[in-house]
Amino acid sequence: MADQRALDEVVEFTSELIRIDTSNRGGGDCRERPAAEYAAERLAGAGLDPLLLERTPGRTNVVARVAGTDPSADALLVHGHLDVVPAEAADWSVHPFSGEVRDGVVWGRGAVDMKNMDAMILAVLRGWARQGVRPRRDLVIAFTADEEASAEDGSGFLADRHPELFEGCTEAVGESGAFTFHDGTGREIYPVAAGERGTGWLRLTAGGRAGHGSKVNRENAVTRLAAAVTRIGEHEWPLRLTPTVRAALTELAALYGLEADFDDVALLLDKLGPAAKLVEATVRNSANPTMLDAGYKVNVIPG
Ligand SMILES: [Zn+2]
Repeated sequence: MADQRALDEVVEFTSELIRIDTSNRGGGDCRERPAAEYAAERLAGAGLDPLLLERTPGRTNVVARVAGTDPSADALLVHGHLDVVPAEAADWSVHPFSGEVRDGVVWGRGAVDMKNMDAMILAVLRGWARQGVRPRRDLVIAFTADEEASAEDGSGFLADRHPELFEGCTEAVGESGAFTFHDGTGREIYPVAAGERGTGWLRLTAGGRAGHGSKVNRENAVTRLAAAVTRIGEHEWPLRLTPTVRAALTELAALYGLEADFDDVALLLDKLGPAAKLVEATVRNSANPTMLDAGYKVNVIPG
């Protein structure tokens, strides 16, 4: 039975969390504390005893435990991050930090990644508190800082310094698994995340011969750098199907009545349609140039 108050709170909490600007610009430029306090207050309102944990002032994580009815059962971790990637208001038709509800939808940065889930976690726990519901398993609830950058102030810090808070957890529900994936045809898929892609950052530095922009220069450092960046961005990496990725492809294909043919993965992904999104980024490495910097004056070729 739908708990109308919980449904209303999901919308209200999502909007209010969006209005708390937790843009993570990397390099430590973020402050999750107000959002963490917002979440902690609502957890306390559900009768829980949340801990606020920081490695760096302002970079706050929230952890709480809901006691299950079966102490012998493994615990389940349910987690969401509090930070968001930055948003340029000029690119948006609705202000990204307004949390506006328009056409029955909450708009703003974090509405899908992932203040929506943070709000759902809070609303469900509060609904349970009102109705006296207790889960069978212990639940560990974690709202983390710094997911959109290094996680050093967030999950990394919690795992390194406070592993005891996660004792007994054998599975987790977070943003990379166990959410509802809508494939566009009315089918709902619940993927299980067994791992994460890693990142390997590369900083390229090109050198050349300095000179005036009006002269012929075959040793232009900017041209060299641009060429290298283009090659990296356009590079097609070889297929590399790990056992986990093979398993995911096999099960997804079966869901659509298909045989997973690993000899033609491109065709298989094509046949999977929108559901290919769940796996296409995992069948091979990929590279994206994200920042470029060169020169100091428009008519000078830098060295
Ligand atoms: Zn996210």
